[in-house]
Amino acid sequence: METLVLFDIDGTLVTGGPAKDAFGLALERVYGTTGPIEAWEFSGKTDPQIARELLREAGLRDADIEAGFPGLWNAYLVEMERRIPREPTRLLPGVISLVDALDRAGSAALALLTGNVADGARLKLEAVGLAQRFAVGAYGSDHEIRNELPAIAWGRARAHWGVTFAPERVLVVGDTPRDVECGRYFGARTVAVATGRFSRGELSEADPDVILDDFSDTASVVESFLR
Ligand SMILES: [Mg+2]
Repeated sequence: METLVLFDIDGTLVTGGPAKDAFGLALERVYGTTGPIEAWEFSGKTDPQIARELLREAGLRDADIEAGFPGLWNAYLVEMERRIPREPTRLLPGVISLVDALDRAGSAALALLTGNVADGARLKLEAVGLAQRFAVGAYGSDHEIRNELPAIAWGRARAHWGVTFAPERVLVVGDTPRDVECGRYFGARTVAVATGRFSRGELSEADPDVILDDFSDTASVVESFLR
């Protein structure tokens, strides 16, 4: 293995699904409020970060917010499992071909770097048959601050593959400026893909190493990843 590829999930591998509704219901159940969930920006943030922001806006104190977290994730996952069969996440263009091609190339270690809590990530990927394709990952349940997640994923990848990946051989792939920022924070190469809420122009302001419209041109995407 020469290159560690860290994929974001929402807006990068999949879209849709019941997560926002499940999150709102879980917040309501545990804290009695969702805060300003309809107007809030979720993109590129970790699940605990989103919860903390919404609940602070609703006037809760950090100690009370944190005390509710175990119950919140439990309620969220129960609601996700109930809803996802009827409202599954959907694959974004070219994702399966890209993962297959990277596997065939034999030099890329595929892992996750996502703000989702780990079980939420699993449910979203199981719905599209991708859950088994990433050996390790770093999740919102590991750290609330996205910039801390590349180092966690890197450490797990080293333990799993027995390879100490040089930072310039680590690729952080995501659909938001926050993905680019966390990759740069670690010293990784960054790939931004415009399949989420951000346009190519908006992503270019974050100055990623590579910008893609989507993953549909498998050969050229693999080339840009593994060069
Ligand atoms: Mg995303």
